[in-house]
Amino acid sequence: MTYPNLLAPLDLGWTTIKNRVLMGSMHTNLEEIPGGFERAAVYFAERAKGQVGIIVTGGIAPNAEGCVAAHAAKLTTNEEIARHKVITDAVHHEDGKICMQILHTGRYGYHPGIVAPSPIQAPINFFKPREMSEEDIERTIDDYVQCALLAQKAGYDGVEIMGSEGYLINQFIARRTNHREDQWGGDYQNRIKFPIKIVKKTREAVGEHFIIIYRLSMLDLVEDGSTWPEVVILAKEIEKAGASLINTGIGWHEARVPTIATLVPRKAFAWVTKKLKSEVNIPLIAVNRINSPETAEEVLSEGCADMVSMARPMLADADLVLKAMEGRSDEVNTCIACNQACLDHTFQLKISSCLVNPRACHETEINYVPAAEIKNIAVVGGGPAGLAFAHIAALRGHRVTLYEASGTLGGQFQLAKEVPGKEEYKETVRYFEKMMSKHQVDVRINHRVNHQELLSLNYDEIVLANGIIPRKLTIQGHDHKKVVSYADVLRGHVVAGNRVAIIGAGGIGFDVATYLTHSQPNENEIRAFLQEWGVDDMYQQGGGLKVPQPEPSQREVFLLKRSTGKHGATLGKTTGWIHKAHLAHKKVKMLADVNYIKVDDQGLHIDIKGEQSVLNVDHVVVCAGQEPDRRLFDALSAEGLKPHLIGGADEAAELDAKRAIHQACTLASQI
Ligand code: FAD
Ligand code: NAP
Ligand code: SF4
Repeated sequence: MTYPNLLAPLDLGWTTIKNRVLMGSMHTNLEEIPGGFERAAVYFAERAKGQVGIIVTGGIAPNAEGCVAAHAAKLTTNEEIARHKVITDAVHHEDGKICMQILHTGRYGYHPGIVAPSPIQAPINFFKPREMSEEDIERTIDDYVQCALLAQKAGYDGVEIMGSEGYLINQFIARRTNHREDQWGGDYQNRIKFPIKIVKKTREAVGEHFIIIYRLSMLDLVEDGSTWPEVVILAKEIEKAGASLINTGIGWHEARVPTIATLVPRKAFAWVTKKLKSEVNIPLIAVNRINSPETAEEVLSEGCADMVSMARPMLADADLVLKAMEGRSDEVNTCIACNQACLDHTFQLKISSCLVNPRACHETEINYVPAAEIKNIAVVGGGPAGLAFAHIAALRGHRVTLYEASGTLGGQFQLAKEVPGKEEYKETVRYFEKMMSKHQVDVRINHRVNHQELLSLNYDEIVLANGIIPRKLTIQGHDHKKVVSYADVLRGHVVAGNRVAIIGAGGIGFDVATYLTHSQPNENEIRAFLQEWGVDDMYQQGGGLKVPQPEPSQREVFLLKRSTGKHGATLGKTTGWIHKAHLAHKKVKMLADVNYIKVDDQGLHIDIKGEQSVLNVDHVVVCAGQEPDRRLFDALSAEGLKPHLIGGADEAAELDAKRAIHQACTLASQI
């Protein structure tokens, strides 16, 4: 496939952006650690080398009040310029362009000194903001301008002024958070004075030849957010004030609509940017769940925008654009929108990375250099761990044979991709399959290798990535015909009845509940998504919300756990609430503190706090966790061999693909 729209240059009059891809801003926590700017420089330079049109940094505060957290990155003095220069020099060395995002968090900052237009605490923050005085407001505008000037001195090609996602500027614009009665509050014209003045004064200060991107919240997804006519007014004013490009913002952080998680269909919000297309003359940038060159090309060819923003896809693959240019898009390591190593890390104050690419943000630490001594290596298991190991070991020059017992590669990702809303996981399998052939891994599917065979072939190294064994029930009736495993259900070997009990409410229990309560696939998946989560594409009210109308489940499902407390505590930090809300839409009954007694023809007998009952179900699906499969390891060890163990075969407790792939890549980089 070719990408005529995606790869076309974008002429801004006085400068040209080499293609239509903007790497969206992501807070990686690199700027907050010693030596982090040097690491960030390498990370950004790799993306510039990968031909990204223009890069936007993570948010940098224009003053201390606006910082994400106490002592987080800001640019307020000449002394801070030098470390930013390390980044701009590295990107320019690769012939790239980079803009610095100026982010004032307002009431979203995690520190006691936060300020906002009105002293209204955010529902997602435990700090309450101080109300800004008029003097504070004028000073803050000047801080934005000063920050942009310093960015210019540091060599950035421009700035992105963050006006969306519910941060300070957005807090001025929306009635929800701006209850002021002075010239900065009340009517819409007053509420948008703050961003307009920032853009206008910044343009005056930096001159014509400096990019100003304004990130405009086109769909707030909160009550009392902007109406569509208000969005249009603001966009026109921002253009007049001197912005070079307008980027799209979708949803405040406190919105109860998922906007980037994997269950959000690809390009689900491109229609919002398209609505604005005919209203302004400067280029518009579409965002959210655009994760492949194909999807990006569609967004552009459908006339939704002039550029696309891809943020997480650039963590997953620094060379995404280069691969599209060279006709190698089948080699793109696709972001599966899991958030597990990027956003979840950011919120845990860890350095961001990527589940499918552990090198992301760790470019100075993890490197895959040619092997000093070429070895013959056997890899047992073609799940994420085995595939990731085989890929990197072969890339480094080793001769690798990979044995997979089943007829397909992917291991448990073959099951994960069957879960509605997790279809993206098939992309990881596609990527690894391609890497196996590209790096000439000798792949033997339908080959359950045993220890004698491994012994006879005299490998230099044996890597066991043979995964897990699902934990079985031990209660009376565990072998009743109603009792089935999650694998049987997800593989379609068992079609569950109308009433189902799921034992175990971990990640797989939640996924199985999603699978069992899903309705027939809707032909228009974006429409179905917007309907379920209450997003109004007719935009009849401020914020663009309407009453959610999820498709009801055809099955009655019980999701059970033995422990006390709420369901979903072990799910991802930034995605757990989405899974819980989705199952609530489907009216899944969540029971905790359950003691399982037995299964018989009547169903599942349980006891909750001394009260016994029978769940009259057709099937009991066991999702009770997993144990490492150590049989091969034990057999080889008994023969005196020292095989390596990775992934689930090593440790099944709290295993996920992030850990499996990271462990595999680390071993493969050293072997
Ligand atoms: P596995 O994926 O189990 O692969 C082991 C492979 O070894 C299998 O293909 C097996 O056939 C093969 N094998 C076994 N014995 C032999 C032998 N003797 N010879 C040859 N081959 C053999 N993780 C996440 O991080 N995020 C998620 O969202 C997520 N969702 C999930 C959803 C579901 C429904 C399931 C089931 C799992 C999910 N996981 C998720 C977990 C994730 O898939 C696992 O952590 C990961 O697959 C572990 O990788 P692995 O390579 O160690 O093992
Ligand atoms: P899990 O998260 O460990 O959950 C298994 C659940 O089964 C436990 O919460 C436990 O809950 C219950 N359980 C344990 N032993 C039991 C027993 N003997 N009898 C009855 N119930 C028992 O494991 P999983 O759901 O099987 O998932 C496997 C791995 O895949 C996990 O580590 C998970 O991280 C990963 N995964 C991740 C995602 C994701 O979205 N990130 C999705 C799917 C899977 P109680 O003790 O409370 O009953
Ligand atoms: Fe994408 Fe998941 Fe990687 Fe984040 S961790 S960049 S969401 S694949």
